Amino acid sequence: MDTVQYHLPASRIPRAWYNIVADLPSPPAPPLHPGTLQPLGPEDLSPIFPMNLIEQEVSREREIEIPGEVRDIYAQWRPSPLYRARRLEKALDTPAHIYFKYEGCSPAGSHKLNTAVAQAWYNREAGVKYLSTETGAGQWGSSLAMACSFFGLECKVYMVRVSYDQKPYRRALMEAFGATVSASPSNETESGRAILAAHPDSRGSLGIAISEAVEVAVKDPKTKYALGSVLNHVLLHQTVIGLEAIEQMELAGDAPDVLIGCAGGGSNFAGLVTPFLGLKLKGKCNARVIAVEPSACPSMTKGHFTYDFGDTSHLTPLVKMHTLGSTFIPPGIHAGGLRYHGMAPLVSHLLDLGLAEATTVQQLDAFAAGIRFARAEGIVPAPEANHAVAVAIDQALEAKAEGKQRTILFNLSGHGHFDMQSYIDYNAGKLVNYEYPAEEIAMALAGLPPTGR
Ligand SMILES: *Cc1c(COP(=O)(O)O)cnc(C)c1O
Repeated sequence: MDTVQYHLPASRIPRAWYNIVADLPSPPAPPLHPGTLQPLGPEDLSPIFPMNLIEQEVSREREIEIPGEVRDIYAQWRPSPLYRARRLEKALDTPAHIYFKYEGCSPAGSHKLNTAVAQAWYNREAGVKYLSTETGAGQWGSSLAMACSFFGLECKVYMVRVSYDQKPYRRALMEAFGATVSASPSNETESGRAILAAHPDSRGSLGIAISEAVEVAVKDPKTKYALGSVLNHVLLHQTVIGLEAIEQMELAGDAPDVLIGCAGGGSNFAGLVTPFLGLKLKGKCNARVIAVEPSACPSMTKGHFTYDFGDTSHLTPLVKMHTLGSTFIPPGIHAGGLRYHGMAPLVSHLLDLGLAEATTVQQLDAFAAGIRFARAEGIVPAPEANHAVAVAIDQALEAKAEGKQRTILFNLSGHGHFDMQSYIDYNAGKLVNYEYPAEEIAMALAGLPPTGR
C-alpha cells in the first residue's frame, strides 16, 4: 500500500521556534515611531504588547524555546499530519509528487491556534487580564478566544463587518469560548465611530478592526492587544509547521522543489517556508518558494515596498512592508483572511532578498481548485487555503506538460467547514472575480505617509 500520511509522535513536537532573522544576510528594516520617524524602542510598544512578546518581536536569536505548557497544548493536534495527495496526483495525471501539511486538524480548524496559544500564555505570564483583537474570517478570533479560555483571560474581538454577516457560525464559536464579539466598524471606539460617520454602510476591513482593537488596548492598562499575523513573533510561532514538515519530508524520502503557501498577513506561509529557507541558506535545500495572494488584494505583486501604517486610523507604528495603502478597503472576497492591505515585514523582506516570490489567483480559480482538491482528497479547504491549492495544481500540471517529476509541498492552512456558505455561493454561480481595483489602490497609495514615498 502506498503511504499517504507521514505522522510524527508527540515527542517530535519542536522544542524551539526558528527565527530566520538570525540567518538572513541582512535584518528586516526596523519599525518607526510615527511621530519622530526614529526606530522604535521596546517601551514604545509596551502599551499594546507585553514585554516578553516584544522581546520576541525584536529578537535575533536563532532558536526560542517553546514553553512546556504551550507544547502540552500543541500535543492535542501536533505534530500535524503531512499527507501525500496521491489521488489528486492521479486525477491530474501528473508525474509530480504533491504533499501538503494539514493545519486544519487543530481544534480551531486552522494554523492560527499555533500562535494564539503562545500569545495567550505569554500575556498571562505578564499578568495581563484582557486581550483585544480583530478578526477577518473569524479563524483568528476563534483561535484566540479558545486560547484565552485555556489560560483564564477575557477576550474581546472586533470582527470585520462583511465576515460578521457572511460567517455567523464563526461568531457563535467565539462566543462559545467566552469571547465578546462586535461587528467592526463599531460604535464602541473613536476609530469605529469616525469610519461610520464617513461611511455608514462600511463593509469593514482588517485595517479598521485593528484600529478598534488597538485603541481599546491603549486606553486600558489591563488590556493588551493580540495580532493574528504580520508581526515577527506571530510568524515565529508558526515555524512549528515547517520544522515538523522538514522531518516529515525526510520520512517520505523526498525533498521539495517548490514550497507554496497562501498569504494574507504572511504567517502560515512564513511558518511553512522559513525553516526550509534556513536550510536553503546553508545550501541544504533547493526549493523555489511561492506566496499566493488574491488578485483582489495584491499587496505583494501590486503594492509598494515602503513604510506604512498597519491600521486604517494610524494608531500603529510604521512598518516597512509591501502595502496597498492603509486606507485601501479590499473587495468582499470570501477569503476574509487574505483581505489585508499589507504583508508581514519579514515576508516582504524575503521577497526583497529574492528568497521568495509572489503570485496571484482569482477567486473563482481558487474555488475551482479547492473543489478539485476536495473531490480527490476528502478535505474541503478554507477559501484562503484554496489559493495555495490552485498554485500547487498549476505546478503539478506544469510538471506534466514538461514530462518531469517535481516535488511540491503546500500548506493547507485550514479546513472550510465554517465557510460552507461561500461554497454554496460558488456552486450557485454567485461568486465573481474582482478586477484589480486599480483606482482605489492608487488613491490609497497616494495617501502613504511621507517616509513612504
Ligand atoms: C488567517 C488565515 C490565513 C491568512 O493569514 P496568514 O497570516 O497569511 O496565514 C490563511 N489561511 C487560513 C485558513 C486562515 O485562517
